[in-house]
Amino acid sequence: MSYQDLREQAKDRQWLQRAIRATRDSIEKKWKKIKTNQEKDLGPNNCSLCIEFLKGPGLGCGTCPICIYTELDACDRTPWDDWDNHQARIHGKGLFGPAYIQDGCIICKKLADKEIAFLEKILKWLLKFKQELHS
Ligand SMILES: [Zn+2]
Repeated sequence: MSYQDLREQAKDRQWLQRAIRATRDSIEKKWKKIKTNQEKDLGPNNCSLCIEFLKGPGLGCGTCPICIYTELDACDRTPWDDWDNHQARIHGKGLFGPAYIQDGCIICKKLADKEIAFLEKILKWLLKFKQELHS
């Protein structure tokens, strides 16, 4: 995690608002629904963070807060990576999904929980930073 990179990026005040909103949307509108089988993971096609920040195929994750946090593109080494690998290996998912909790698979459930916890950590990180910025 690079706090310096976050500080640089947050000089663009609108970025911080966009990052907070997209992270919150990804938790509420996508992952919590995946957890209750009301939604599927279609990779970047239904991730509010990708929609907001991804520059396009092969062009990288731009200023996505996850990319700033991990210093890696494509959600590498995040719980999403584990979810994606599990979905491909065990459930035969292709590139960009669809991935979902298959037949009550307990590993899918655990990995979806981990993804939510990870996104909540990112959200807290952004909110804490916003608070510091204004104090
Ligand atoms: Zn599974």
